Amino acid sequence: MTQINTAALQKLDSAHYLHPFTDHTDLAKKGARIITKAQGVHIWDSNDNQILDGMSGLWCVNMGYGQQSLVDAATKQMQTLPFYNSFFNTSVEPAIELATLLSEITPPQFNHVFYSSSGSESNDTILRMVRRYWDMQGEKQRKTIISRKNAYHGSTVAGASLGGMTGMHEQGDLPIPGIVHIEQPYLREAVKDKPELKDLSEDEFGIVAAGWLEEKILEIGKDKVAAFIGEPVQGAGGVIIPPKTYWPEIQRICDKYGILLISDEVICGFGRLGTWFGCETMGTKPDFMTFAKGVTSGYIPLGGAMVSQRVVDVIYKDGDFNHGYTYSGHPVACAVALANIKLMQKLDIVNTVKNDTAPYLKKMFEALNDHPLVADAQTLGMVGGLVLVKDKDKNIGFDDDDNVGMICRGHCFDNGLVMRAVGDRMIIAPPLTMAHDNIDELLSKARKALDATLKDVSK
Ligand code: PMP
Repeated sequence: MTQINTAALQKLDSAHYLHPFTDHTDLAKKGARIITKAQGVHIWDSNDNQILDGMSGLWCVNMGYGQQSLVDAATKQMQTLPFYNSFFNTSVEPAIELATLLSEITPPQFNHVFYSSSGSESNDTILRMVRRYWDMQGEKQRKTIISRKNAYHGSTVAGASLGGMTGMHEQGDLPIPGIVHIEQPYLREAVKDKPELKDLSEDEFGIVAAGWLEEKILEIGKDKVAAFIGEPVQGAGGVIIPPKTYWPEIQRICDKYGILLISDEVICGFGRLGTWFGCETMGTKPDFMTFAKGVTSGYIPLGGAMVSQRVVDVIYKDGDFNHGYTYSGHPVACAVALANIKLMQKLDIVNTVKNDTAPYLKKMFEALNDHPLVADAQTLGMVGGLVLVKDKDKNIGFDDDDNVGMICRGHCFDNGLVMRAVGDRMIIAPPLTMAHDNIDELLSKARKALDATLKDVSK
C-alpha cells in the first residue's frame, strides 16, 4: 500500500512540481524521496525508512522536530491574529516582542531588526540598505560590495549576485553590476592556482586570504567600496572553516577603510557555532547580520537583518526607506520565533552546544581522518566537513566526473543518514539538540557509507 502511494506521489511530483536546485530529467528517472514525518532528530520517508537528519533539514531545524511549544505558539497566534502588516504606522505584538528579544541576544551594536521571510530577501534588503547608507552619507560613489567566490547568499537576483557560485552566475547574467568577488579562505583549493601557498600554516594562510580583500579595495579604489559580506563559515560552499586569523584580519581591513561589514548569519546564527551568532565565534563586530532558518528552527519562514545603531542613525533619520515585504514582521512567524528562542534559552542550548555537544561531535567526526578516503575532517560547533580523496598519501583528489560525493551521499541515505555532498566534500549540520548517542549513530552510519563508497571507487 505504502509502495503504491509512493509511486503515485512520485509521478505527480514529477509531472507538476518544479523543485529548487534539481535536475528534473534525473528526478523523473529516479523519483523523489518523499519525506512524510519527523520527530526529534529523525525523519521518515514514505516507505517508512527512518533516517537520521545530519543536515537539520536545510541547516535550519536547530531545535529538532516535534517541539510542541512552537506548534502551540503558531496555533494561538493564528487564532488571535493570523496576519496584519507593519506598513504605514501599524505594528503587531509578536513582531515588537521579537525585535526586543533579538536586540537582547545579539551583540550590543544591534538594537533594531528589519524582517523578511528568507535569507535571500534579507541579503537583498542589505544591498539596498548599504547603498542607501552611503547615499545619505554623501558618498554616492561607494556602491561596490565585495564578497567571496563559492559564497552562498541566496537565490534572488541580489542574493545570487552576492553569492559566488559560478553555476548560478552563468544562469541569468549575474552578478549584477557593483558586486565583485575575491578568493575564498580555502587553502586546499587555493594551492591549485597558487602553488606557492602550499607551505603556509593555516594561520599564515588566513592573513594572506584576508589580504585579498585589501588588494581588491585598492584595485577598485578605497572610496568606491561600500561593504564586505561573508558567512562566518561558508555553508553551502562545502563547510569551509576559515583559519582563526582570517576574520580578525578582515575586520581590521574593513575598519581601516571604513567599509561596512555584513555577517551572513543565515546558517551560523542561532547557536550553530556554539555562540548565539557566528560573528561572536569569529571575533568580528559587523554592521549588519542577516539571518533566517534557525530563528524559527525552520518551522515557518522568517528572515531578517539586524542593523547596527550607526547605520540606523543614518538611514532612518529623515523620510522613508522605501523597502518592505508584505510578510515583514508576520505575526505567526514572529510568534514561532519567540517560542523557539525562548526554548533555546530555557534549555541553555547554546552553552550545551559549546561545552558538550560540539566538543563530542568534533572528537567523533575528526576521528574519520583515519579513513583511507578522508582528508581534512573538521568541525566547528555543529557544522562539519571532510574531503574525499583518491590517494591520501599523495594527496590526490577525485575528478569532478568521478561524482564521488554523490556516490557517498547515496550510501548515506541507504544507511539511514542524511549527509550532504558538495563536490568532493561531505558535510553535516545536525540539529543542536543531538545527544551523544545520536552523534554515535551519525558517525557509525557515515563510516559505513564511506566504506561502501571506497568499495565502489576501488572497482
Ligand atoms: N545565506 C546563507 C549563508 C545561506 O546558507 C542561505 C540558504 N542556504 C541563504 C543566505 C539564503 O536563504 P534562503 O534560502 O532562506 O533564501
